[in-house]
Amino acid sequence: MGCSDIINRLYAQIEELQNPMTAATAESKTYQFQAEVSRLLDIVANALYSNKEIFLRELISNASDACDKLRYRALTEDGLMSSNQELSVLLEPDPEARSLTVTDNGIGMNEADLQDTLGAIGRSGTAKFMEALENSKDSNLIGQFGVGFYSAFMVADLVTVETRKAGEEQAWRWQSDGKGDYSIEPIGSRPVGTRIILSLKEDASEYAERQRLEHLVKKYSDHIVIPVQMPAEKQDVGEEGEAGQESDEWLVTLNTASALWTKPKSEIAKEEYASFYKSAAGAWDEPWETLHFNVEGHLEHTGLLFIPTARPFNLFEPDRKNAIKLYVKRVFITDDCQELAPAYLRFMRGVIDSSDLPLNVSRELLQASPILNLIRKDVTKRTLSALKSRAKKDAEGYDAFWGTFGAVLKEGLYEDPDQREPLLELARFRSSTQDGWVSLADYKARMAEGQSAIYYLVGEDLETVKRSPHLEGFKAKGVEVLLLTDPVDSFWTSVVGDYQDTPLKSVTRGADDLAAIKSGEDASEESASEPVKEGDFAELIAAMKEALEADVKDVRLSERLTDSPVCLVADEGDMDMQFARMMAAHGQEIPKQKRILEINPKHATIKALKERPAQLDDSVQLLLDQALIMEGEAPRDATLFAQRLSRLMA
Ligand code: ADP
Repeated sequence: MGCSDIINRLYAQIEELQNPMTAATAESKTYQFQAEVSRLLDIVANALYSNKEIFLRELISNASDACDKLRYRALTEDGLMSSNQELSVLLEPDPEARSLTVTDNGIGMNEADLQDTLGAIGRSGTAKFMEALENSKDSNLIGQFGVGFYSAFMVADLVTVETRKAGEEQAWRWQSDGKGDYSIEPIGSRPVGTRIILSLKEDASEYAERQRLEHLVKKYSDHIVIPVQMPAEKQDVGEEGEAGQESDEWLVTLNTASALWTKPKSEIAKEEYASFYKSAAGAWDEPWETLHFNVEGHLEHTGLLFIPTARPFNLFEPDRKNAIKLYVKRVFITDDCQELAPAYLRFMRGVIDSSDLPLNVSRELLQASPILNLIRKDVTKRTLSALKSRAKKDAEGYDAFWGTFGAVLKEGLYEDPDQREPLLELARFRSSTQDGWVSLADYKARMAEGQSAIYYLVGEDLETVKRSPHLEGFKAKGVEVLLLTDPVDSFWTSVVGDYQDTPLKSVTRGADDLAAIKSGEDASEESASEPVKEGDFAELIAAMKEALEADVKDVRLSERLTDSPVCLVADEGDMDMQFARMMAAHGQEIPKQKRILEINPKHATIKALKERPAQLDDSVQLLLDQALIMEGEAPRDATLFAQRLSRLMA
């Protein structure tokens, strides 16, 4: 055996391992679905009861995407499409055979495409998605997540795909009953494009009825730009029509098939916008805000953009991709153009149609295009100003938006310094003294006399943060603290120093300046409680410093504590503690920063310690561990901690 033979066999073996084949004939090969697909299919076929009808929207949307892709590729490759070829999607119901066929003349698939796309799910977060799907039983999720093809198995017990890829000779048949495996075989010639034949389940015979399909296309796919057609009914055609002869006259178009964004605003009803949003974004919620604009002059483009009401599935996937579709002069170019909008607006959906870009624009050209840069600026400005006016007009609705997308928008605070000011105006926060969401402007207006900073506390979740010892002094003084609990909060607070000249300050950092703040409520209390004499604690502090030297930077009296005996704070110029924890949790190497231990001179434990230095050692070590635990961290050494605690209890 020659060297190349061995290599060939090796490759064949690797391929076999990657695509386990369970049976093979000369022509047809059977493959196992990827484990995730099998599980998904099981849920789809057996557990999804609501909204099965959306399978049609998914198949039509795939067919229309395939047409878009062909048209786009044909711009740069000769011979892929004849000049007069009309792209379309054809629905052929057959009530007698209880089947529905969906055919497109788009890009088609070859053997590898079939294996890669119809046998596997190539995306992250699948497990989480399937959990959600299983729990909600709502089939709408399936389209959202981009595994729409499999929704066919909600209504069909056998799915056959016959397809030929543009530019290739060989056609293929993919077939599966959705129960673990699928087969692929080469078939005789067929036109370029894809035909999907659904053998409908007994309880899904309605999808072989014309009227039902007409209704569904209107409902879900009216704004697909490619015509969705159905053969005319026999009586529509007339007796003399020859059966089997395909001609446009025999077809009726079921959808409006127009680029909605090119129509003037005044001619578009709210419902039309909503239905366009749903079909363009594969969404099922109503748009929360619609932006339809036309830019003319130096730059020419039209935009029809939507802010969803509900959170799309992949919002927090690491790639942070936006999903706005780019068209050039009404020809679809791509739905993966990251230059169209900043990542912090990735919840936006819809279309940008540019007249400035060339039709055969390549990916490289897109990335470098100054035009897209200008479009992105325009999209950003428009979106933020739409949000601003909505916040003014409809505070309650805006709060709901913020609850859904605020965490994403806040990414802009550190990523886009140009928009920092408007974003700070748009931001809303939880507060230690107010219910609901508050803005920085509201906070400023409420600031107490003598208060010179906007205080915030970053933590993992609202409940923990609310109980934090760092808040005690502020609570006692009635001073408001913003409570920040999104992961992104650690980041933006490390770069945003102030809001309209008022510094933003973490309550876990530095010495606090509570003493300077006057507050009506506690003035009397303050004078009533006896003042602390610092000198009284000097000895205790010195002893504690010595005992804890290895672990803390300093020990000092606290003004921020009222109920807890101790807490840890970061030194003035040091990293915020939550930020440091988060970086560490993400495996980032950060220089170890010692923190400052503050002690509460009014607390019984501290007072007692002052009087009984004999017990100092165990108690001091325990106090530091206690401060760590209250920060949500582990004690330094669990065994030592337990031993000390037992000793003290004994
Ligand atoms: P999505 O469309 O979100 O990628 P689907 O599960 O609906 O997810 O489809 C998976 C893939 O299968 C598509 O991305 C596409 O590559 C391919 N596909 C599905 N239907 C067709 C079709 N009619 N023509 C060509 N390719 C198709």
